This record gives sequence, structure tokens and C-alpha cells, in this order.
Amino acid sequence: MSNFEFIRATDIHSACSALKNPGYMAVAGGSDLIVKIRNGMYPDLKGLVDLSGLEQLNQIRTDENKVIIGSGCTMNQIVNDRLLQDYFPVLTKAAATVGALQIRNSATIGGNVANASPAGDTIPALYVLEARVVVTGVNGSRKIPIEEFFISPGKSKLEPGEIIEGFRLLLNKTRGEFLKLGERRAHAISKINLAVSTWNDGRDHYRIAMGSVAPTVLRCKEAEEYLENCEKISPEAIARAAEIASNTARPISDLRSTKAYRKQMAGVLLSRALNKLIQSA
Ligand SMILES: Cc1cc2nc3c(=O)[nH]c(=O)nc-3n(C[C@H](O)[C@H](O)[C@H](O)COP(=O)(O)OP(=O)(O)OC[C@H]3O[C@@H](n4cnc5c(N)ncnc54)[C@H](O)[C@@H]3O)c2cc1C
Repeated sequence: MSNFEFIRATDIHSACSALKNPGYMAVAGGSDLIVKIRNGMYPDLKGLVDLSGLEQLNQIRTDENKVIIGSGCTMNQIVNDRLLQDYFPVLTKAAATVGALQIRNSATIGGNVANASPAGDTIPALYVLEARVVVTGVNGSRKIPIEEFFISPGKSKLEPGEIIEGFRLLLNKTRGEFLKLGERRAHAISKINLAVSTWNDGRDHYRIAMGSVAPTVLRCKEAEEYLENCEKISPEAIARAAEIASNTARPISDLRSTKAYRKQMAGVLLSRALNKLIQSA
């Protein structure tokens, strides 16, 4: 690594320009990338472009009826934001489960999504909030619905020379729950995670998404429609929705868990999340 270059980006355009060079990668909090570099995952890496000094990426702001969360916002920034707590509790709850306090101080939401891991904890929360990913390159920005952003584990629609600038959410007051199962209570990558968001505009709406049960995070539209058509969210309705979620999951067995356990837990987590939402209503 004798000619290795570390660039502290001072504006988005020059950051994207530098990232067009083969062998250059963006770094935000570094909580994931630095570990991978140390483990020898990127032998051809020629340079890092540090995005952490770009102020506009580190802000949460409103724009008319939208909330824009900069990609550089850390998990703790998200957890502690009053607007997000009020409007999008599913996201603040998901961010609160990432790693432990030190990791949450550096880990960013942009890095979590750019990793494109099916176990990334903020991703199901962004799915149920129907977020748009703002992707910026030297020629401008495009907005991609989060559900269309991922291709396969570790692979997204980001092109060389592009960064995630942020996430756009419709300013809509929701209630939500995020649950995950890992090996331990903290510092554990999810064996399975699940996000539910609900709001009422005269009738109840539900959004459900699960992680680690397919190559990319899965929306559970059949269970959403079932719940939206229920007159009352009775214990029987919850049991039926849980059964649908379990049937929707198509996990694999890997070193963190088995296919059968993940399938069963998809239903259990949905049932727990719906019960929590009912109790807190
Ligand atoms: C001990 C430990 C515990 C962890 N626990 C969890 C957990 O519970 N849940 C979980 O989901 N994750 C967990 N992680 C993984 C990691 O911390 C998160 O994914 C984190 O959000 C990554 O953000 P970062 O800013 O540190 O990304 P970085 O490490 O800086 O970058 C990660 C990747 O994203 C790219 N990138 C970063 N920002 C951008 C951007 N704006 N645009 C384009 N590409 C970008 C980088 O090039 C790199 O490929 C854990 C990691 C560790 C080491």
C-alpha cells in the first residue's frame, strides 16, 4: 500500500470524481470497511475517499412534506432525533439495535445501506417507510425506491463514482416496531429482523419487511393486505398474519442460523411486533 491515497472530501462533486478511479472506495464511519480492509478483503484498494467531513450528508432536515436523512447520519444521531422518534419510530428503534454504543457513534445509515447486506438493520425500517435512496454522481442525482436499490447480497445499483447522498421519506406520522434476533443482545448481526410500520388516514395501513430471510430484504405484502382487510386485529388475525409471514420468508441455512428456525421466527417476530403495537395504541 505504498502509494495509498486517503482523500478527505470537501465537496460531493470532487468525492464522486475521485470514486470514479478504479480501486477507490468511499468511507463514512469506517465501522465495517476498516474491519474488512484489515481482513484483506480488498487487496487491490488504491485509495479511500472520506465522506465524513461533508456537512450536508450529516444532517436530518425537512423539505415541504419530505424528511431528508443525510447518508452520513450516525445511528446515535438517528436514535436521538426528536422528529424521527415522533414520525418514524421504526427507524429509531432499528438504529438503536445496531452494534453497541461505540459502533452507533460511528456507524452511518448510508454505510449500512451501501453494504447491501440482507441483515442490515436499518434496511427493513427504510422499506416499511418506503424511502427513496438519493444517489449522486458527477452528473447529478437520481432517486431510487429502496425496494429497487438492492440486487443481491453485497450488491446494489450504486455505480462507480456514485455515493448515497441520503434518504427521502414522506413526512407522515407512523407508529412502528423493529425486532431482531441475534446470537447476543448487543454486538450481534441479525439472524432475522423484522420491521412493521402502521398509520391511519381514516383506515389502518400496514407495512411489513423482513431481513435475513432472502438474498435481499423482503416486503411482506400479502400479510400487509390481509391486516388492512381485517375489521379488527384480533389474536386470530395476528396468528394468520404470522403464518403468512412465515410462508413468505425464503431463507437459507448459514453459519448464523438455520432455514427452519428463520422461517418459524418470521412469524413469531411479526406476532410479537403486532402485539406490541396493539398494547401501545
Ligand atoms: C462490532 C460490530 C457490530 C456491528 N453490528 C451491526 C448490527 O447490529 N447491525 C447492522 O446492521 N450492522 C452492524 N455492523 C456493521 C456496520 O457497523 C454497519 O453496517 C454500519 O452502519 C456501516 O456504516 P459505516 O458508516 O461505518 O460504513 P463504512 O464502514 O464507512 O462503509 C461501509 C461500506 O459502505 C460504503 N459507503 C459508506 N458510506 C457510503 C455512501 N454515503 N455512499 C456510498 N457508499 C458508502 C463504503 O464504501 C463501504 O463499502 C456491525 C459492525 C461491527 C464492526
